[in-house]
Amino acid sequence: MSFDDASALVLERADFDALPAALTARGYTIIGPTVRDGAIVYDEIHASADLPVGVTDEQDGGHYRLRRRDDQALFGYAVGPQSWKQFQLPSEVKLWEAQVDQRGGLTEVVEAPRKAPRLAFLGARACELHAMGILDRVLLGGAHPDPADRARRADTFVIAVQCGQAGGTCFCVSMGTGPTAEQGFDLALTEIVDGGDHYFVLEVGSDKGADLASALPLTAAGEPQLRASRAAHANAAAQMGRELDTDGIKELLYRNYEHPRWDEVAERCLTCGNCTMVCPTCFCTTVEDVTDLAGERVERHQRWDSCFTVDYSGLHGGAVRRSARSRYRQWMTHKLATWLDQFGSSGCVGCGRCITWCPVAIDITEEVAAIRASDGAAASDEPLPRTRATGERREQA
Ligand code: SF4
Ligand code: SF4
Repeated sequence: MSFDDASALVLERADFDALPAALTARGYTIIGPTVRDGAIVYDEIHASADLPVGVTDEQDGGHYRLRRRDDQALFGYAVGPQSWKQFQLPSEVKLWEAQVDQRGGLTEVVEAPRKAPRLAFLGARACELHAMGILDRVLLGGAHPDPADRARRADTFVIAVQCGQAGGTCFCVSMGTGPTAEQGFDLALTEIVDGGDHYFVLEVGSDKGADLASALPLTAAGEPQLRASRAAHANAAAQMGRELDTDGIKELLYRNYEHPRWDEVAERCLTCGNCTMVCPTCFCTTVEDVTDLAGERVERHQRWDSCFTVDYSGLHGGAVRRSARSRYRQWMTHKLATWLDQFGSSGCVGCGRCITWCPVAIDITEEVAAIRASDGAAASDEPLPRTRATGERREQA
């Protein structure tokens, strides 16, 4: 279902709680933004009082603080450290458990249940909708998608919130992923706080959304509300804290595998993996087997991993990517170049999380700009590290 100005509706702030009530009545567990431990995180919410009312965030490289707003906006902030990835691909999942018999064999192997709760995501931003789509392609687009991954996405209800302001590390305009959501939602809200007026311009994006909207006390949007909505979208677009020139970026990175900038960034990178944990599209996982103390019971778990760990590129004879240089280069080149070949889109949606949550403020936009500024710069004369296995093999990108 498409929408346009003629079909836009208005939900007054005073009536907002009809929305979570209607979702709950339809059996959804609502996940939305809420304040915890000094950050805006995504967790179960029940009503507007659970949202970050009157709170905004301040973001820059390695910097995140919550501040009080001078109004009572419900969605007056950019994205926080978490993304919806944690619901598409939970950070830890038990895959199966089994008994160990006396000869070490497995008996009574029981797979973990595939059932997933019926979730409604309230407050997804445009860049996050793109990230969900990317992750869906990665997890579900192959020949043999995991039924558990499919079950988690089977019946989600998505309520987008259009950004009315941008964060200090946002660059979705550069990536063509925002700030205005145009698809991938069931309902979309634009929040307007203007003097004594506080309302939401609501757009319907699917039949499911239309059904839910029919349960809400809505009025038709008039020209003043539509004008305010358009102004909010334009305001966010004009406020981007960062920009990234994507022109020919794949070729740029492919021809600069040996650029000296990789050595510079490696001197600062702690290889902590924060950037991969907060990124809404990073999907690396590993599996771990754990036993009880008696060795009679075993469980296999899948959990998030990161290409910044040495072990992640471990093969017989040692790790392929042993230096910070090779691991940062692998991560950034995958996000912005090889992802395009692999999945048909960039792996970056310009949410800025990797910049905000990098403890040493490494900035992906700055790194690309530095390589572009000295495109084709000579490789370092420093010899490449030797591997333990052969003493000769070069590290791979
Ligand atoms: S770029 Fe920053 S967040 Fe990522 S691994 Fe390096 S230090 Fe950690
Ligand atoms: S690479 Fe950084 S800016 Fe891009 S989607 Fe991931 S966290 Fe967001």
